Amino acid sequence: MIYATLAPDYVRAIAPYQPGKPVSELAREMGLDEANIVKLASNENPLGLPASAREALQAAVSELARYPDGNGFELKAKIAEKFDVEMHQIILGNGSNDVLELVARAFLTTQDAAVFSQYAFAVYPLVTQAVGARGIEVPASEYGHDLDAMLAAIDAQTKLVFIANPNNPTGTYLETAQVERFLEAVPKNVLVVLDEAYTEYLPATSRPDVTAWLRQYPNLIISRTLSKAYGLAGLRVGFALCNPEVADLINRVRQPFNVNSLAQAAAIAALDDQAFLAESLRVNDEGMKQIVDALVELGLDYIPSSGNFVTFHCADAAVVNLFLLKNGVIVRPLGGYGMKNSLRVSIGLPHENARFIEVLKQAPGLRSL
Ligand SMILES: *Cc1c(COP(=O)(O)O)cnc(C)c1O
Repeated sequence: MIYATLAPDYVRAIAPYQPGKPVSELAREMGLDEANIVKLASNENPLGLPASAREALQAAVSELARYPDGNGFELKAKIAEKFDVEMHQIILGNGSNDVLELVARAFLTTQDAAVFSQYAFAVYPLVTQAVGARGIEVPASEYGHDLDAMLAAIDAQTKLVFIANPNNPTGTYLETAQVERFLEAVPKNVLVVLDEAYTEYLPATSRPDVTAWLRQYPNLIISRTLSKAYGLAGLRVGFALCNPEVADLINRVRQPFNVNSLAQAAAIAALDDQAFLAESLRVNDEGMKQIVDALVELGLDYIPSSGNFVTFHCADAAVVNLFLLKNGVIVRPLGGYGMKNSLRVSIGLPHENARFIEVLKQAPGLRSL
């Protein structure tokens, strides 16, 4: 292949991201009926699209021949109001993955480095490598971020640190005081991306006051998504909050129409939908208990999770995963994270969780013989 040599080494070395298997793909592969497949693989909201967002989408359809608002004025106004920040502190993204990539593109070159934890979200090494920067992976402590070790790993080339709280795929959570100590200690010329994709699932008392943090720490970038608790994964919308100078730089590498009109309209409605959010959290708490109880009953080790998913360990995850797939249940194998005998299951509706549990109970490969 001659084209391979056209790409820089660091692009050729990227390991492709492995998304959760779509329902339609499993149906084709296994000859199953789509209606009988339960997908608990991508931490999506099992309640589906909020009705408020559906209405907003219908109203927005008539304007689809026009380009979206490239500055996302109304959505930014809504976010500014909700988070008590200025509009010029906001970066909108085509999902928060987009925001993470924009941060890397704005700040990292082949001369720079980014620090992240072992078992942290796969997108951090991906966006770092895509711009040819050096990733510094810091060994995890009990599957979570070891903030002291991450601090110690920051070197002269380090410009960015990525922290996911709660983390995916492990579900581990860092106390507010721990993160605060880190923010106090980290050099001010290093930017800290605090990815809070699952923060809505935390009890209110466990969520930091990020508005206060943004005032206090000019090197802090908070990233949020509407893909999880707000139920808009397919529309792709997320955002980051940071100081205006940093936001301005990130916005320069952003495509002007990166968040489409439908996504903007639905996000405005969803951000106001307190009832949907509350119901999402209630369903998640109940489902988490349902699944964890079953894992305990089966004698399987799991990582206590603060998200809308839980990771558990088995003797042979490949065998268990194949059995689940054959029986129409899609979960996420974590081999790509170096956790080859772990599976991550997203919390679904009660009947979906029940189906997962029922199939899991019959699966070979759960425990060593
Ligand atoms: C799901 C997830 C996101 C959100 O991704 P989107 O691009 O907004 O859908 C971000 N960070 C983590 C850690 C996640 O698990």
